[in-house]
Amino acid sequence: MIRKRSSGPVSGPSIPRNSRTLRVSLVALGASAAWVACGGGDAPSDETAGAADAPPQFETTEVAEGVYQFRWVGHNALFAVTSEGVFAFDPISVEAATTYAEEIRRVAPGAELAAIVYSHNHADHATGAEVLREAFGADVPIYAHRNADAPLREAADPDLPPPTATFDETMTLAGGEIELHYLGRSHSDDIAVGFLPAHDLAFAVDFVSRDRFGYQDLASFHFPDMFDAIEGLLEIPFETIVFGHGPPGDRAAVERQLTYYRDLDAAVRTAVEAGLSEDETAETVLMEDYRHWDRYDDWRELNVRGMHRKLTAAGVGESEEEGEEEGEHDEGGEEGEGEHGGEGREGRGEHGREGREGRGEHDGNGGEHGGEGGEHGGEGGHAEGEEGEESGVYIGRAETWDETRRGARLILTFDPGRNAFAGTVENTTDETLCAVRVEVHLSSGTELGPTQRTDLAPGTSTTVELAALGEAFERWTAHPEVSPCAG
Ligand SMILES: [Zn+2]
Repeated sequence: MIRKRSSGPVSGPSIPRNSRTLRVSLVALGASAAWVACGGGDAPSDETAGAADAPPQFETTEVAEGVYQFRWVGHNALFAVTSEGVFAFDPISVEAATTYAEEIRRVAPGAELAAIVYSHNHADHATGAEVLREAFGADVPIYAHRNADAPLREAADPDLPPPTATFDETMTLAGGEIELHYLGRSHSDDIAVGFLPAHDLAFAVDFVSRDRFGYQDLASFHFPDMFDAIEGLLEIPFETIVFGHGPPGDRAAVERQLTYYRDLDAAVRTAVEAGLSEDETAETVLMEDYRHWDRYDDWRELNVRGMHRKLTAAGVGESEEEGEEEGEHDEGGEEGEGEHGGEGREGRGEHGREGREGRGEHDGNGGEHGGEGGEHGGEGGHAEGEEGEESGVYIGRAETWDETRRGARLILTFDPGRNAFAGTVENTTDETLCAVRVEVHLSSGTELGPTQRTDLAPGTSTTVELAALGEAFERWTAHPEVSPCAG
């Protein structure tokens, strides 16, 4: 009963260009920023399609009677023809939504669009609702989880309007033909899982997929809540599941995904507790059992690195060195972890990347935020090897980053008008800071930068600008990196 229709082969998605000339320009950051290597200022989408042997640009597949997966390049949406009209999840993009509307009309001629549902607020899935509304009616409602509302209002993107109605735990649509479930924080804090009981079919985006690594360094992911969310998904009695990326799966696929994240957590935790650095962990935790999974080559390492950062931020494996800054740890032993709740789920959540307090605790810069502080020159010569500082603390879109690390004071704000992060990095020390560069991580998982390395003479500063590439994000974090001066 599976029917497909495809367009002819087309090149990858059209992508907005960085319109700004960067005074400090972007350079590739190894594997974590493969998109930068595309050159020409091409921006990433959450999933960048390979242009070479690209499959058809879109494909509509009937996954159950009257229920369709609409795939656009690397993203999947789902729409269902119900007794109350068509319910369409995730317009994906302005461009995709145009075709999405045509496909809905083709398979359900004359049907009304009853509602649009956002799986979550990330732009690479939720953009394009206005295009569907232009095709089907300006008053088509948009449903989403409550936590999707504020970031979308704040973003004020006409192509990504906020929901017209939200839910907290569950919502039923079309007289119960469709259920929306909230399973707690996972890939984001606003994932709405769709369930169609008559078809034993679920739709879940970005926190699970079939035999595929998590997105990049898992920056937007919430651990350990992820485990609860996937377990919660398994409590929904689906048999078939459509994912936001990749082919549909079954319950076993979701179980494998859960096992993967547990294995990742366990393997990286062991490495962190053994005192391995992030680089060492990335080199040794190879997740061999998952070598056949999609994205092994480009996201395995990033998943490991991301998990290392999360566990470290949660206080797992605290070292003596950090102990002197924090003053309350012995070394990564059981007690130390207990104190920080490193092993306990609640504890880890508390010490996760959301907490501003966590910053002071972990970087020894506690009182510095927003002030001049007494740090000047204090740490200038302290670097051994490149210092890529990850405080792991995220701030809101409208907040200003102002922090001094290794003598480099970074002041950065997000300018929605230019869709870019702009600011300065200043050498507050009496010595030259070498190879200073800046990175921004968005809560959507995207990394911006780093900027080109620049040497800064004492007291001088340089401007920083990083295009946000049209990504929707709620929170962000930034850090300068300073390297030892050659010779
Ligand atoms: Zn997402």
